[in-house]
This record gives sequence, structure tokens and C-alpha cells, in this order.
Amino acid sequence: MKAWVVEEQKPIEDRPLKLVDLPVPEPGEKEIRVRVTHCGICRTDLHITEGDIPLSKRPIVPGHEIVGIVDKLGPEAKRFKVGDRVGISWLNSTCGKCKYCLRGDENYCPEIKRTGYDVDGGFAEYVLVHEDYAFDLRHISLSSEDLAPIMCPGITGHYAFRISEVREGERLGMLGFGPTAYYILRVAKSMNIEVYISTRSEEHKRIAEKYGADWVGNIVHEDFPHKVDAFIFFPTAGKLVERALANTVPAATLVLGAVTMSPISIENYTANLWGRTIKTIYQVRRDYGKEFIEIADRLKLGIEKEIVKFREVPEAMLRLKKGEVNGMVQVIKI
Ligand SMILES: [Zn+2]
Ligand SMILES: [Zn+2]
Repeated sequence: MKAWVVEEQKPIEDRPLKLVDLPVPEPGEKEIRVRVTHCGICRTDLHITEGDIPLSKRPIVPGHEIVGIVDKLGPEAKRFKVGDRVGISWLNSTCGKCKYCLRGDENYCPEIKRTGYDVDGGFAEYVLVHEDYAFDLRHISLSSEDLAPIMCPGITGHYAFRISEVREGERLGMLGFGPTAYYILRVAKSMNIEVYISTRSEEHKRIAEKYGADWVGNIVHEDFPHKVDAFIFFPTAGKLVERALANTVPAATLVLGAVTMSPISIENYTANLWGRTIKTIYQVRRDYGKEFIEIADRLKLGIEKEIVKFREVPEAMLRLKKGEVNGMVQVIKI
């Protein structure tokens, strides 16, 4: 099978992705083999390819926003049939036995394996996954090209939205407006939540306004029109955390979405931090994924996207790096 692999991490301009021929993988006991039809490209794939994150497996096939068709079953696999449509996210497997797995917090499992990072992902014609970790898409009406980005930014957005504990009729602020924030905006507006978005990008401002953001601006320069009940924060600039907190009410929750962050300092504890709760997003979990796929299907949640040919993945990732994506996301059609 054809697959894009990273053997040596380097800037995308220096062509770290190589198109290679690999044997078609054989599913083990409870695994299924999936013929990948669509795979979203995520900024994390860019970080893995360029070396911002160390490699966990070498070579690695990136890609963790996978939609495809079950093509072969392992000897003990019973959940799906050949021909069924399934999805695969960043969460590839967990141990199922540790205290986190047993209490339903599988995203904290120390044995977690991640798709396109610890195990080969979806920038390929075929991929393997344990049947219990595939999302069942048989009853879902959304198209596969709309479902692929739901596997990462969609599910992550739902995770952030859920732990922000924002309720109907309240106010939600967001700093940074990528695809994750887009999904949060769409769901929040369906729940009569007032949404304020801070972003620098003109293209993102346009999309945020188009989908009903109640205020779009830049909180580096001006405050939100009202303090918010919950705040979801995406940048890696720790110095902006206090600006965000200064725009929240004392009962608010601030959710940090980044994996790395420059130092955070709080100068005015009493005015800006006292009473607030700070949470972070950590990996992903299946229950949130399942919930969000249902919500997205009910709301018919499409997204503005660029369809990428399989041969043109490196060029697409270069556009992602340069901020030249046409729409909110890129989806490879395989
Ligand atoms: Zn991702
Ligand atoms: Zn575990």
C-alpha cells in the first residue's frame, strides 16, 4: 500500500514526508483493517513531522482524523462487518485496567497509544485499529469529508466545551479561532450561548461572524463587551492567560487547549484569578467522541474545507504552515 512516512523530522520545506510502499497490514485478534477514504490534516501532524514533538515511533505514518471502510476483520473481531463505515481518532488504545481506565478517565491512561504518533495513522491506504476504539459511523448521515475533521478538532472542541461547564443562556469567550473553536461556536449558538471571539486572522474573523459570533475582536487591545462565564483559550502564549482571566466573572472556568505554553504569570491574583477554575484538555476519550458525533450529525455540522489529493500531502502541509489553507481545515481524499 501507498503511505506517507516520516523517518527524519525536519522543516516541511525540506520534505520530511516520503511516499513509500508498505505491506498491507494484517489485523490481529480483535483488530479491524480500515481502507482509509478520508483523513484530515491536523496541526499536530505538522508538529510531529517537523520535530516540535519528538517521534515515538520511526518511521511513522501520521494522521489521526480518519474515516474509512472496514476491509478485513481480525479472527476475534465481531463488532463490525466488512463494508461498514468507521472513524478513528487520536485515541488509538488504552490499557483498560488502570485506575483511570476503570473510572472512565481513559485519556489519563499511562499506557495510552495515539494514532499517527505511537502507531501508524491515516496518511495511508490502510490502517489497523482495535475494534473497540473505532467510532461506529454506520447510522451517521454526515459525509465522510465532513466527518474526518470531527475526529480531532470536533471531539477536542466538545471536550473543551463540556469541561468549561458553560450553560444555556450564558456567555462564552474564546481566544484563537481555528477548527476546534469553530465547532464550539456552532454548538454554543445552537444552545443560545452568547459567544465572544478574539482572533487576529481576518479570514477567521469572517468565518466567526458568518456563523453567529456575538462579538469578534482582539482582547489584546480591548475587553469583551461583558465578562464571560467560561473561557476557552487556544494559544501557546502564556502571557495572554491573565488577559483572558480579566475578562471572566469570578465563578468562571478557563480551559486551556494547548499542549505547550510559554510561562504563565498572574500579576493581580485577587482581581483576575481569585474564584476562577483553570482546566486543561488532555488527550481525548471515546465517550466525548461518541457524544460529539451524534451532536454533529443532528446539527448537520459541516465545515469549510480544502480537499487534498493523496499525492499532494506535503504541499498541503506547507500551506497549513504558512496559514494559507482555503477554509478552516484540509481533508485528504484517498
Ligand atoms: Zn489533531
Ligand atoms: Zn489504562
